[in-house]
Amino acid sequence: MRNAGVGGWPARRAQMTPGRTAFVFGERSFTYAEVHERTTRLASRLREAGVRAGDRVAYLGPNHPAFAESMFATHVLGGIFVPLNFRLAAPEIEYMLAQSGASVLIYAPQCAGVVGALPGTPPVTLGSAEYERWISEGDPTPIDVPVALDDVALILYTSGTTGRPKGAMLTHGNLVWNSFNILIGVDVAGDEVTLVSAPLFHVAALNQTLLPTFLKGGRSVIMPSWDVDECYDLIERHRVTWMFGVTTMFAAFARSPRWAGADLSSLRNLMSGGAAIPAALIRTYQERGLVFCQGYGLTETAPGATFLEAGESVRKVGSAGVPVFFANVRVVRPDLTDVAAGEPGEVLVKGPNVTPGYWRDPAASAAAFAEGGWFRSGDVATVDEEGHLHIVDRVKDMYISGGENVYPAEVEAVLFEHPAVAEVAVIGVPDATWGEVGRAFVVPRQGGEVTAAELGDFLRGRLAKYKIPRYFEVVDDLPRTSSGKIRKSELRR
Ligand code: AMP
Repeated sequence: MRNAGVGGWPARRAQMTPGRTAFVFGERSFTYAEVHERTTRLASRLREAGVRAGDRVAYLGPNHPAFAESMFATHVLGGIFVPLNFRLAAPEIEYMLAQSGASVLIYAPQCAGVVGALPGTPPVTLGSAEYERWISEGDPTPIDVPVALDDVALILYTSGTTGRPKGAMLTHGNLVWNSFNILIGVDVAGDEVTLVSAPLFHVAALNQTLLPTFLKGGRSVIMPSWDVDECYDLIERHRVTWMFGVTTMFAAFARSPRWAGADLSSLRNLMSGGAAIPAALIRTYQERGLVFCQGYGLTETAPGATFLEAGESVRKVGSAGVPVFFANVRVVRPDLTDVAAGEPGEVLVKGPNVTPGYWRDPAASAAAFAEGGWFRSGDVATVDEEGHLHIVDRVKDMYISGGENVYPAEVEAVLFEHPAVAEVAVIGVPDATWGEVGRAFVVPRQGGEVTAAELGDFLRGRLAKYKIPRYFEVVDDLPRTSSGKIRKSELRR
């Protein structure tokens, strides 16, 4: 088998553990042998549709086994899989399809509306009815296309501080090494039952749970989208052992009336990421005998960069842990010298898990790396005496709402398109439920008038809901530095 990449995994697993369950979704389940056969059939149809090594196949939809099958089928052919956030608005999706140059779009029934609203779609567009037909009509003869670890496997769009989303490329090697890092850090068994509750289009759910579980021959229980009650149902019914989430998910889970009476005895590994988990929440779970392992990372680092083992979560509360086994992490001053203990600096990452750059964006790719090939995270951390990182701030202008990153530059650019808006600044403000929500400060054009309701309406349909600021404030002017930059720190105060 010449496929050294992720596309070879279903065939390997079908040899080793053909009868074990790979995916559970609602009442359906798929063994590894079935996943291999369905993936091969789908790949044969994608090949007939013209997909060749390096071609892009986009996927739009909530969590479903079809996500994983489409990804593996693309990788069998050496193609590049482009998962899209189904919460995005039509213009945002349109941009990503065009920028990636996707020749195929596979979408879920829930997304038919937004796909219908796109001004143009890729040449081959496959909805759910055609999807099952493609699989049943596909050829099950194994396909053997050579794929190397350095070949690009995924393009994951992350917005940036400069407005337009950028497509972070992850290679097959990035995914393989990240899976090793996870399997080294988490106490994973071969009979793991993993609840895939976070959205698969995001690097964390895909690379921190589904892929390592698949590599190990465990079972992924795939949840269409996050729902507290369903989460309890699935944990109890399938005896879930491993679950990944962000703070907002774990907080909502513990607030549920079912918390006290539920049988959570099967849970062995709880993994949190995306933001430091508050001490109070750690204690709440600890009282039930549940401990967290935690991670820090970014889409561009596949994502694991540092890791805090479960046993350390109480002693080192607030820490993001130490570098993962196969990666190097430094915290540096602006002149790239290493900080002293306790001194804040920017986190740099280098290793086999780090992106080669952004798709068709040489300027952004060059700007992302410091001398020596170190990836610049844009996050600020301190390092303690034991070498543990503590994420304390961000250099980049970003806030996180309910686990989704929001880049104010992107929201500001769309608000600028409103004819009555002269100036605008968006910041994240603390929120008990979502962690942070957006607050926009808007200066109207001379003689113009805008209201909060009107601005909210303007953004709906242009941006995903989670990016739309909760609060709008119309102001006379914005605080600026002598060079004319808006002083967001002052707005935050
Ligand atoms: P994403 O690319 O969507 O995975 O977002 C990555 C960003 O999330 C990082 O650059 C950090 O700002 C933030 N982040 C991830 N993990 C943590 C953590 N454990 N603590 C604090 N911030 C985090």
